Amino acid sequence: MRERDKQQKFLVESCDVRGHIVQLDDTWVEAVARTDYPDTVRQILGEAFVAAALLASTIKFDGKMTLQVRGKGPIYLLVVQVTNEGTVRGLARWHDVPDTTELMTAFGADARMIISIEASKYAEPYQGIVALEGDCLADALQAYFRTSEQLPTKLYLAVKDTTAAGVLIQKLPVEERTYHDADGWQRANVLCATLTDEELCTDDSHTLLHRIFHEERVRLFEPASVAFVCSCSRERTDGMLAGLGRAEVDSIVEEQGKVEITCEFCDCVYNYDAVDVAGLFMGIATSETQLGDESNDADVTHH
Ligand SMILES: [Zn+2]
Repeated sequence: MRERDKQQKFLVESCDVRGHIVQLDDTWVEAVARTDYPDTVRQILGEAFVAAALLASTIKFDGKMTLQVRGKGPIYLLVVQVTNEGTVRGLARWHDVPDTTELMTAFGADARMIISIEASKYAEPYQGIVALEGDCLADALQAYFRTSEQLPTKLYLAVKDTTAAGVLIQKLPVEERTYHDADGWQRANVLCATLTDEELCTDDSHTLLHRIFHEERVRLFEPASVAFVCSCSRERTDGMLAGLGRAEVDSIVEEQGKVEITCEFCDCVYNYDAVDVAGLFMGIATSETQLGDESNDADVTHH
């Protein structure tokens, strides 16, 4: 039995290639547990979960990375957020059920892929926006790596009921190459392409890597854990309500008897009655609390 919810970094030294394997089990099951996703939407969301985790594993950052696709097609929003601590959360929203997972059909011709990184060491978040290209998310991300002038990168993604998994391989930067085998990159691609979805989802990373690269020189790093964790909290919804302002919040309470905020990522519900609201704004008035930058986070909606 392989370990669940793991990511594994590896180096194919003889090909001058580095890579990552991500296998999401409970993470994936939990991510879709509370929403009745149609098959096509679920497939694309699963690919996005794995792709985002793989993408994040190629970047050293201290914060969170968000992969978004926005379009005017049947699916209008796809968001997956990964933190450097190995937590993932995400969702998809659709007007109509696409009858295919082909990206242009599912998201519409003008869809955009947005990759943003908020890291504590950067004053400004990084944001890269590219047109959505190709048939599937793996294609779209490969195009992103090409257009952002990064290293040649290839992704293989598989989604099953209880597992979403994938492999990313990337050509090493020139200064890190040791074998200088001109065919190395091509060979790694051909070898990875032999993997089946079943193998990607079922086999442990050692078995997978042995199967693909048994004739190559491979080095494995310590595996890391991944988990579905949502960053919503009472404090953050407090902040969001404070950002709306007392008048607005009072009017919602007057109309509906309370304010109910549901986190779109985990369906956690935060309730505020008139007393809670009064207490919240009283606290703000007396402590002169500065509103944190969390208050305008768009991960919660009020009903
Ligand atoms: Zn949440």
